[in-house]
Amino acid sequence: MALYVQKFGGSSVADAECMQRVAQRVYDTQQAGHRVVVVLSAMGKTTDNLINLSKQVNPQPDEREMDMLLATGEQVSVAILAMALHAMGAEAVSMTGPQAGIATDSAHTKAKIMGINPERVIENLDKGRIVIVCGFQGLAPSMDVATLGRGGSDTTAVALAAALKADRCQIFTDVDGVYTADPRTVSEARKLPVIAYDEMLELASLGAKVLQSRSVEFAKKYGVELEVLTSFDRIPGTIVKEEVDDMEQIVVRGVAADKNQAKVTIQRVPDQPGVAARLFQELAAANVNVDMIVQNVSEHGITDISFTVPRDEVNRTRSTVDKLLESLGAAGATYDVDIAKISIVGVGMRSHSGVAYRMFEALSNNKINVEMISTSEIKISVVIRSAYADQAVQVLHKAFELDQANA
Ligand code: ASP
Ligand code: MG
Repeated sequence: MALYVQKFGGSSVADAECMQRVAQRVYDTQQAGHRVVVVLSAMGKTTDNLINLSKQVNPQPDEREMDMLLATGEQVSVAILAMALHAMGAEAVSMTGPQAGIATDSAHTKAKIMGINPERVIENLDKGRIVIVCGFQGLAPSMDVATLGRGGSDTTAVALAAALKADRCQIFTDVDGVYTADPRTVSEARKLPVIAYDEMLELASLGAKVLQSRSVEFAKKYGVELEVLTSFDRIPGTIVKEEVDDMEQIVVRGVAADKNQAKVTIQRVPDQPGVAARLFQELAAANVNVDMIVQNVSEHGITDISFTVPRDEVNRTRSTVDKLLESLGAAGATYDVDIAKISIVGVGMRSHSGVAYRMFEALSNNKINVEMISTSEIKISVVIRSAYADQAVQVLHKAFELDQANA
């Protein structure tokens, strides 16, 4: 008898029919002789709709009240699933995050899970019940409900799996696994049977929106093996787990495009100690997430500094940078939103050489110009014109033979 945590996202519980499909799946797992804890998201677009509703009465809603509001979405889901299970003759009980013993810090709308007391969940499992828990919420020290940030139900599922020492944490969604590239861009993209936590983290932050990054970090920290799979079909998904030796045989596991970046260039700044420190200190203070940074070769003591930021932070960046230009002694600044960041990721890069060369060669053979480069141990990213983003992903997917089953 194994203990399963099964999490279903909003699209998997969007309506009554979906709920029945989920109920059947969950019940089958229990009937196969397992203990089952279910974590649910709000139905369909409920969370978005609640946010819109709040904005209609107050452009800047209080965060405690926002959590009161958003937490209702998941509460609807768990009660409806419990009812669907009862109708099938199953024993099931629903719980809010606080009832399930999930304690958070007090950062409303972006709270972190501080601990879980799973006693009540275990008591109910011991009685033969399926336990259905609201994702995305817990109890703050003030005894108020707090939510974990968008997509937070994944984190609830992983945290519960860790606290309960579950044998498996399955994340059901509307895609059937993690792919070598976005299948909408690359028709030969393949579903990966397995991927390392670190690779998944890189791909998640690159915009492969399969799992919330925080949930993967949590899973890595507590050694919880995840499986990402679809709730619409009964087929195996992708396992996300600790890296094992033979995973390094594959150099590149996936290619991703991030089209939500912008490039900022500060022109003609004096090449002196303290300039970069000052600039990036001010940007950090303005809460701008700087990603890649490149400083050009200087000529006559003057240089250009370029960096990338998320596109929706361009305005904040502009107001910070424009104020600084004069005191930095810079000639001006440009803001370019027509870029894309293309990355290749794989733990095999640690033990293989020549990966960067193959990447640049493939791009240049297709006349795609590289404007910026950054690397880490398991990732190489380049900035290119956004118009070439899809083509670059296709070219790299082919160059690294990701369409081959053993690649
Ligand atoms: N319902 C929340 C959201 O839409 C949490 C989740 O789906 O994981 O962000
Ligand atoms: Mg959701």
